[in-house]
This record gives sequence, structure tokens and C-alpha cells, in this order.
Amino acid sequence: MTLTRRRIAILGGGPGGYEAALVAAQLGADVTVVDSDGLGGACVLTDCVPSKTLIETSNAMTLLNSSAGLGIAAGGLATVNAARLYERITALARAQSRDIAARLAAEGVKVIAARGSLVGAGRVKAGDAEIEADAILIATGALPRVLPGAEPDGERILTWRQLYDLTELPRDLIVVGSGVTGAEFASAYQALGSRVTLVSSRDRVLPQEDEDAASLIEDVFRRSGMTVLGRSRAQAVSRDRDGVTVTLDDGRTLDGSHCLLTVGMIPRTEAIGLDEAGVKMDARGFIEVDRVSRTSVPGVYAAGDCTGVLMLASVAAMQGRIAMWHTLGEAVGPLRLGHVAATIFTDPEIATVGVSQRSVVTGAGTAGEVSARVLKLPLATNPRAKMAGVSDGFVKLLTSPGTGVVLGGVVVAPRASELILAVSVAVEQRLTAEQLARTFAVYPSLSGSITEAARKLMEFTPDTP
Ligand SMILES: Cc1cc2nc3c(=O)[nH]c(=O)nc-3n(C[C@H](O)[C@H](O)[C@H](O)COP(=O)(O)OP(=O)(O)OC[C@H]3O[C@@H](n4cnc5c(N)ncnc54)[C@H](O)[C@@H]3O)c2cc1C
Repeated sequence: MTLTRRRIAILGGGPGGYEAALVAAQLGADVTVVDSDGLGGACVLTDCVPSKTLIETSNAMTLLNSSAGLGIAAGGLATVNAARLYERITALARAQSRDIAARLAAEGVKVIAARGSLVGAGRVKAGDAEIEADAILIATGALPRVLPGAEPDGERILTWRQLYDLTELPRDLIVVGSGVTGAEFASAYQALGSRVTLVSSRDRVLPQEDEDAASLIEDVFRRSGMTVLGRSRAQAVSRDRDGVTVTLDDGRTLDGSHCLLTVGMIPRTEAIGLDEAGVKMDARGFIEVDRVSRTSVPGVYAAGDCTGVLMLASVAAMQGRIAMWHTLGEAVGPLRLGHVAATIFTDPEIATVGVSQRSVVTGAGTAGEVSARVLKLPLATNPRAKMAGVSDGFVKLLTSPGTGVVLGGVVVAPRASELILAVSVAVEQRLTAEQLARTFAVYPSLSGSITEAARKLMEFTPDTP
């Protein structure tokens, strides 16, 4: 007996699409990925990978420029060769995209380089071709949002996707928007040698993040010489030959050499046949999905930034995999957003997982919904931190008052993105503070602060309000 292979069509070759393709191919499906701009998606070619590569260089600059304190006599401040830096970034991104293409080819996934759209149930148009599929995954990603009156020109008024076409480092960079993307680029360019002004419409930078972490970063930014403007909304950005002027809504103006706009993303869901097929979207155009990535149309799934669920590569990839496991009849659990680990790659990095302090009940009349003990341990007393000359940072753990189970954590430190794994494992496996405390950490190490925080939680008795 010959079993017919299930046919899967995937629109979009970013992490939402290509990770799904790998799972579907592994499960024996006949898989076609239709992608218009390059495998790896915006994640690899313009967003995550290039920005993190830039940040590796800015971290190296910080290390070099603070090396005098470590007893190294260097010849003055290091400077950046911007053309070389940007060339390295784009070459690395392209190489990563080629690796993904090779991996998909090795797994027998067909790739069509074309713009695709849905043409009714079970059919996808890819350029001039039409593909029939038993299940379709939409993973078309998102685009930088543009402010009316501040349209990017790719030379001086820029989205982050246009930075790597510059030939020099911006002398005076005005970053509009102080969310994750704005904070990461502001941090990186300040370290690389630009004079940075960060314009935040809110009271503080990173308004959605842990308050202690955000105020620490804002303090580090100011100490590094960055100008941080709170409660300042950019209304318009104009340019002349040599620079830009940003006009704020209270009439103030800021002059700089370049302006970087980081004011959010809009989904790439227009004109790809979703309305016609009956796929439900919210008012902003994000595709509505359930926790196994199903849309409102049977057989049509969606993953990644086009769903707006949580705009992270890791989440896009998991949504895509879940869609494939579900449609191909594998056992599958729903997406658990409460366990997603995330990092803001400022210097120091801010890594978080699980329950946040904002959601903790702190007393009568507070909005929190979770009861938790919270313990914050500054890095300044950690011996390894002292050796490295690191004084900014902390470990914060949140545990259940009854059971001691670790509910969440925040690590603010160099390479916090690596350190958070211990807390992630604890949250995922429902380990108690005691179990974490009894785990060996290397001496001396930054991760020693995680086990020490857990030990302190064992002896911690909160004041009763
Ligand atoms: C500056 C920046 C830094 C980031 N850093 C991180 C990070 O450090 N860690 C992290 O986890 N996340 C990070 N993210 C988020 C991450 O990049 C996204 O969550 C991720 O790219 C989403 O993957 P995706 O597959 O949904 O979409 P994308 O990566 O955008 O891929 C979508 C693909 O679909 C293709 N496409 C679109 N329309 C069509 C069509 N009609 N037909 C065919 N193909 C189409 C596009 O060409 C693209 O290749 C960052 C984002 C930004 C902006």
C-alpha cells in the first residue's frame, strides 16, 4: 500500500516558516516554502541577526574602551571602521540565509522564490505557479511602522533595516522610540562612538519591562553620555543635506545627523488573499490564531510576527512547529507564552522569563494577579563581576509563597541571555528555590548569583502588609 504524502504550503521563509518546513519534512510531508525576500526572513536578513551582530561589535568596543580599568594600556579610544562593520554584518546575514537554504534542500523541502498569496481553500499562488496543499501556513512577518510626517528616506531618516547601507557611523543619532529595538540600537551606537539622543514618549525607557531593569538601563545610558528624553513624542522628522530635525509635539526641536525610527511593526498581511479566504484578522491586520496556530479557516494556520502574538524569533518558530505537529497528527501541547525567555540586548543585557514583578499582588488595591515572593540580588557583590569590573546588574527571582516554586526571574548582566537558562529550566520544570539553591554553581561565576538569590529566598520572610 502506498501512503499519499500530506502536502504543506508555507508562505514566508522566516523562522515561523522555515522551522515549520523542517518539522513537516521530518514527518514525511511534501513541503513547499514560498518566500519573496530571502530564506531566514527579516529575522536573518534585516532584523535579529544583523542587530545582534552589530551589538557583538559594540560590546567589544565597550570592553576595549574600559580596558584601562583592567590594567591594560591601550592607545586611546578605539574607533569603528563603519564600512567594514556593515560589510561583516550583511555578509554574515547572507551566509546564515544560505545555511538555511542548504538545510531545507537537504531535507527535501521545495523553495519557490516568489511573492505568494492564498487563492481559496487549499491553493497558494507563487508567482505564476499555483500549488495545491492539504494545509497552508502563513508566516509572512511584519514591516517597520512608519510615522506620517517622518517618512524614511534611507539616507538620514532610517528604519533599522536601512542602517547597514550607510557608509559611516552616524555622528549624532536621534533614536525615536524607546522600546526594545530603540533601546538596543541606542545602546549599541552610543558604545560605537555616536552621540545618541533617545526620544521616549513615556516616563522611562523600556516601559513594558521590569521597572528595576529599565531604570538601571536608563541610568547606565545617561552615565555613558546618552541624552534620554522622557515624555517626548516625535511629531515630524525633516532633513536637509547634512542632517535631520526632529520636531516634538510640544514644539521643541532636536538636530542630529541621522534619525532612526523604532516605533513598532505592522503585519505583512495585506493583499495576500486572506480576506477573500475568510481568514480573520484583528483591527490592526494581525492574523487571529489559537494556541495551536489555527486561523479561523480550517486547514490554514499562521505563525510568527504576522500573528502579533509575541514578536520573537523563538516564538515564531514554536508557533510554526506546533502548526505542523497539529496538522500532521502529532501529539502537541498549546503554545505556553508564560514560559518564553526573552532578552533585551542592551549593555548590560536584560533577560526575563516567567511571571513578572508587575503581575505580583503587593497589597490591597494593587492590580497584580499572582502571589509571589520577590528577591533582588545586586551583581556588585558577585566576585566574578568584581573581577570583570562589572557593577551594574542584578538577579531577581520570583517564587510561590506556599511551595517555593520558581515562577519567574530577571537577570541584568553581561550575557544575561545565557545566564537566564538556569531560571528558565527552573520555571519550566517547576523547581523550587531550594532545589535551585542546592544546585552547584561554578566559583567564581555570575551564575553563582542565581543560586545565591535562591538561597536567600529559602530564608526570606516577607513583611506582612
Ligand atoms: C531589530 C530587531 C531585532 C530583533 N532581535 C530579536 C532577537 O534578538 N531575538 C528574537 O527572538 N527576536 C528578535 N526580533 C524579532 C524577530 O526578528 C521576529 O520575531 C522574527 O523575524 C519573526 O519571524 P517570522 O517568520 O514571523 O517573520 P520574518 O522573519 O519577517 O519572515 C517573513 C518572511 O516572509 C516573507 N514574505 C512576506 N510576505 C510574503 C509573501 N506574500 N509571499 C512570500 N513570502 C513573503 C518575507 O520575505 C520574509 O522572508 C528582532 C526584531 C527586530 C525588528
